[in-house]
Amino acid sequence: MTVEPRPDVALMPGYHSPQLDVAVRLNTNEAPEPPPPAFVERLAEEVRRVRWNRYPDRSYTALRTALAELHGVAPDQVFAANGSNEVLQTLLLAYGGPGRTAAVFEPTYALHGHIARITGTAVCTGERAADLTLDLDEVRRVLEAHEPVVTFLCSPNNPTGLVEPPEAVAAVADLAPGLLVVDEAYGQFARWSALELVDEGRDVVVTRTFSKTWSMAAGRLGYLVGPSWLVAELDKVVLPYHLDAVTQVAGTLAVAHVEEMEARVARLVEERGRLLAALRELPVDVWPSEANFVLFRPRERSGDEVWKALVERSVLVRNCSSWPRLDGCLRVTIGTPAEDDAFLSALREVLT
Ligand code: PMP
Repeated sequence: MTVEPRPDVALMPGYHSPQLDVAVRLNTNEAPEPPPPAFVERLAEEVRRVRWNRYPDRSYTALRTALAELHGVAPDQVFAANGSNEVLQTLLLAYGGPGRTAAVFEPTYALHGHIARITGTAVCTGERAADLTLDLDEVRRVLEAHEPVVTFLCSPNNPTGLVEPPEAVAAVADLAPGLLVVDEAYGQFARWSALELVDEGRDVVVTRTFSKTWSMAAGRLGYLVGPSWLVAELDKVVLPYHLDAVTQVAGTLAVAHVEEMEARVARLVEERGRLLAALRELPVDVWPSEANFVLFRPRERSGDEVWKALVERSVLVRNCSSWPRLDGCLRVTIGTPAEDDAFLSALREVLT
């Protein structure tokens, strides 16, 4: 007899995002540029100095201090882990679990519901308006009906690219009966940040990642800023020494290169404007984006067909066409101008 997994795990489809070998990869919202050369050189020096026989600093003091300074908060208001997905998982291990519920508003980042379920947390789902913006009446209805201990927002939202207005996030923070998690994986690309809502007296956290802006997806580093009493609970449930020495030093060095990173964001925001304008010339519906990706829907051909035709031209975008509420949609990451040109000319060929 073979051992059976937890019955709910056995029924889970898992999380799938194809890693195909293509010339132009615009499917997972990574930064198109490598980190600055000076960062890579300094990191190589630091790696030589790592004391490999010893566990790393369990409290990642240097990184925590650098992030706290970056955001003007205290170091004990920062919690970091291996990617913001691990930050979300740790939040759910501490605040979710059997008998507790997390709320999501679809369409949104699939991992919010997925990680909740893995931790045994029930998921209640609210709908967005037809234009995919947040509907506060629906939020109120869902929060009153299910009393979730964790409410997720994603701003800018993945996969729509839409940013939640400050009044809406503040309203949800007031309505939420438990913790509000604002996932700002794409926060630096947007015009405002919910970081301004973080306060010792408020049940709000903002999560961020080094995978996008900081050109460090390979390094796996994410963090949250929130009340110190909440961070103390996360420190209890996360595994000891979860952040290895190289990740700690890479993150600390990246923060020291914040100006170069901000220049990258500015370049991508400009390039996003160019890509949006070019897409609007084609027979596709396009959502305005404040992230480093754009959601669009071909009007005359199915999303699946267009996705396959792009792969045949060695361009990989994210196929959201079978995702609930996103019938026929595709999502393209902003790449370098050359990558975006390759995507646009392939798309033009496919659609016209
Ligand atoms: N949140 C959102 C909204 C994302 O899109 C992603 C990356 N796809 C993550 C979190 C996770 O990022 P990472 O684990 O690489 O930090």
